[in-house]
Amino acid sequence: MVRVGNGHVDEGSAVRALVVANIHAGEVEGKEAVQQLLREFALGQHSELLDRFVLYFVPIYNADGNEKVTTKNRIEQNGPDAVGERANAQGLDLNRDFVKAEAPETRALLTAIHKIDPHLLFDLHTTDGSWHGYDLTYAPSLSTNCDGQIAALTRALLNDATAALLARSSPIRTFDYGNFETRDWDGGGAPSSQDGVRGWWSYDHRARYVVNGFGLRNRIGILSEAYSNAPFAARIQSTRAFVLACLHATHARAAETLRATSAADARLVDRPEPIAFGYQTGFAPPERLDVLVGDCQRIPLADGRGIRFAALPDHVVEAMPVFRSFRSSVQIELPEAWVLPSPPAAVVAALRVHGIEFRILEISEPVTAREFGVAKKRKPKRPYQGHQELVLEGAYGLPVQRVLPPGTLWIDARQPLARLAATLLEPLSEDSVSTWNLLEDRTSDVYPVLRIESR
Ligand SMILES: [Zn+2]
Repeated sequence: MVRVGNGHVDEGSAVRALVVANIHAGEVEGKEAVQQLLREFALGQHSELLDRFVLYFVPIYNADGNEKVTTKNRIEQNGPDAVGERANAQGLDLNRDFVKAEAPETRALLTAIHKIDPHLLFDLHTTDGSWHGYDLTYAPSLSTNCDGQIAALTRALLNDATAALLARSSPIRTFDYGNFETRDWDGGGAPSSQDGVRGWWSYDHRARYVVNGFGLRNRIGILSEAYSNAPFAARIQSTRAFVLACLHATHARAAETLRATSAADARLVDRPEPIAFGYQTGFAPPERLDVLVGDCQRIPLADGRGIRFAALPDHVVEAMPVFRSFRSSVQIELPEAWVLPSPPAAVVAALRVHGIEFRILEISEPVTAREFGVAKKRKPKRPYQGHQELVLEGAYGLPVQRVLPPGTLWIDARQPLARLAATLLEPLSEDSVSTWNLLEDRTSDVYPVLRIESR
């Protein structure tokens, strides 16, 4: 990791940004864009940013995947000829590991995030799918459990960056990440479900994705996806320009960014209003927007390695449903605390690496708590990332009196990371320590984490 600052701006008062490149090591332009930016900063360029910013850059996050260079990876990508591979050395996808943190890379990133507390995090990728007409697509944190004001600020920054990139003498076209797909839509909690909707569909809301999980910390996460069918050199330039445009947009709103992030932290501690935690999440109702549909030329590669797809310059504009946000159909209020008697070491380690505050009871303590009755446990047959993800069904019962034994893990929900803590601990959370089996041998007909709702 490389730190960039002008030596005059104090870390504590600066807007801090962390740019992570090459998480999927076949998606290579981020590391080039970051190194180019570092050279430019070293030569004194972009110095106007440094009166408000301290910047951190990770050019190659997936170092082991980066070393596994072959000409067989990402054949369809429009160059370069040889790239690294997606997974890390353990075979894990680092952009599915942000909750369970099984990879040393994830634990190092979470430790850095906890230490630096960046206001802004970029995760730089390359697309895999649809032939669209954009140079680069992006996404904010898509979790439905982010602070609303941080979500609004993130959208405003992306809108500012989009406009600035389009206004350049050589315009760079950007839009929300997605793919052209025909999918059934469940109505997003409203009675308007439809079968087979062709549209522009975003990806996923769950916290296992770096940007989604980062947003749960009351901070601004930005996913960048350069268009894989654009030439390699063009992808480097659009990624570089996108990061710079977002930094400039944030610079123009620096005071607002600092205010909004600390206010979002404070709302969780002071709770002027109840805070809702949502689950049973699906795509929100779509917006009908113009989307640029692109086309590609097929280029057979030497040695019969396959076909490369190179973007053609023309595109057509098509209005279609754009599914770029999610909605949770069930909400529960955040409690005062969660407690877990005789906690598994892996759960304690997970909370610690995420930076969530907790304490261990030294003496027994009587409490009024609510337990979650498990009606059903579901698991897929096929493993995913080495796990068979556990899905619980059930409901909280009425308050009961319990005596918590010494050694009980007590997680106060009045803390800045309470949204993340709820994601990790609530039984119906769609991406929790329970999902990744860390509580499975402790989950009978009662879920082992209890809610304390009043003190
Ligand atoms: Zn990727």
